[in-house]
Amino acid sequence: MSHQVVFGIRRAGQTMAEAMTLAGGRLLDIEFNEIKSGYRLRYSPDNRKTYIDVFLFDSLSSGAGYCSALADRTAELMAVTRKVLNECPAGCDSACHECLMHYWNQRVHAMLDRKAALDLLDWCEAAKLPDAIPYDEQAAIAVAAQCPERGILHHRRWSETLCASG
Ligand SMILES: [Zn+2]
Repeated sequence: MSHQVVFGIRRAGQTMAEAMTLAGGRLLDIEFNEIKSGYRLRYSPDNRKTYIDVFLFDSLSSGAGYCSALADRTAELMAVTRKVLNECPAGCDSACHECLMHYWNQRVHAMLDRKAALDLLDWCEAAKLPDAIPYDEQAAIAVAAQCPERGILHHRRWSETLCASG
């Protein structure tokens, strides 16, 4: 898989994790920094599929139970996550301080892209792929990734897992 594709997937995963944290805070009416999040990539044994696990956990070491509460409200959480990603008051192109950026996630500001995360969310919820990539571009990516052209779409298989508090 090309570095470019992996970078795009990482961007989407990181942004999804940040958006779910903000959404969880809104949904439970708590400070969003009570919730922490992360993501990891996993690959199928044949390396043809990539899975993204996004996970949330309580920031308090004692565990306040916020993430357990969110695990029971996944549909609502994902609806609010979509709002967070969709509705930037400033209408920015990728991410800004009006939507996803804040002091506590400074180290990942350069990775945030709400449109990449929306593509990921569409795929998770409806198996809807991003707008078609022109055939020529797909072929170029396939060559770069040294895989058959028909394999490209399979590389966009993403999964998402919401974990309970840990
Ligand atoms: Zn914004």
